[in-house]
Amino acid sequence: MTDLFAKDAFAGKVVLITGASSGIGAGTARAFAAHGAAVMVNGRNEARTRKVAEEITRAGGRAQASVGDVARSAYCDALVAETVRAFGRLDVLFNNAGIVFNAKLDETDDARWQQLIDTNLSGAFYMARAALRPMKAQKSGVVINMSSECALIAYENLAPYSATKAAIAMMTKVMAIDHARDGIRVNAVCPGDVDTPMVETGWQQLKLTREETLARLNAHIPIGRIGQPLDIANAVMFLSSDAASFITGALLSIDGGTTAR
Ligand code: NAP
Repeated sequence: MTDLFAKDAFAGKVVLITGASSGIGAGTARAFAAHGAAVMVNGRNEARTRKVAEEITRAGGRAQASVGDVARSAYCDALVAETVRAFGRLDVLFNNAGIVFNAKLDETDDARWQQLIDTNLSGAFYMARAALRPMKAQKSGVVINMSSECALIAYENLAPYSATKAAIAMMTKVMAIDHARDGIRVNAVCPGDVDTPMVETGWQQLKLTREETLARLNAHIPIGRIGQPLDIANAVMFLSSDAASFITGALLSIDGGTTAR
């Protein structure tokens, strides 16, 4: 894939990414670091979270790991404070952490529902609220929320997950207008299927093999391939850059054309 960004495009910028121990978050952390940003890498799994930060540091970048659960409000406040302490400011929050559960509504018990809401929605809310404090003081900042194509079109077996992602989409728009005059832009990305462990969880829950899943996805996605974490990372970097200085309140589909049908 062609690299459109200068190697120092994000030099001096501080980026906080939740759910960066895996998949899209890890790919985006590596991409920002490769273009000069200092990155705070969050995840729940200690070994995986530290590994991503260490890989970035070993490659010559700046990163620090923070292990914790974004469903806990106090941890989110602490994570933002830790980021500002470590790197001096906060320019970009990528509110990416999330989980999926593939099941019909009446097959989803209270505990699963609560876990989806706590992680996907409350986590993004707690993180955004915490990030607004330093961003308002700086009079600048970018928040990018992780929504999904599931916020835009209906997929079978994903009612509770889709509800969290649709809520994120509207939270994004209202945040965008509320904080535009604070110098803070707020956008959401709406990926289609991206080749990460989350998609693997989905196909296991539906009792499909990787090959069966990829064949289905390749047939379903107009561009004819599943997305890669770098497809999303490139869009997140664009939305974080000054090239997107007039873009706020947008829901950006990154789905190979799926939701255009
Ligand atoms: P993934 O590889 O499973 O990564 C999910 C990340 O979220 C992991 O780093 C995980 O950390 C973290 N996480 C989960 N719960 C957390 C919590 N309570 N606190 C902190 N971190 C938590 O999946 P992915 O595909 O990259 O997903 C990233 C985001 O993209 C999710 O919000 C997902 O809904 C969204 N998305 C994915 C797709 C897709 O097709 N893959 C499409 C649209 C949207 P640990 O493993 O360390 O717990």
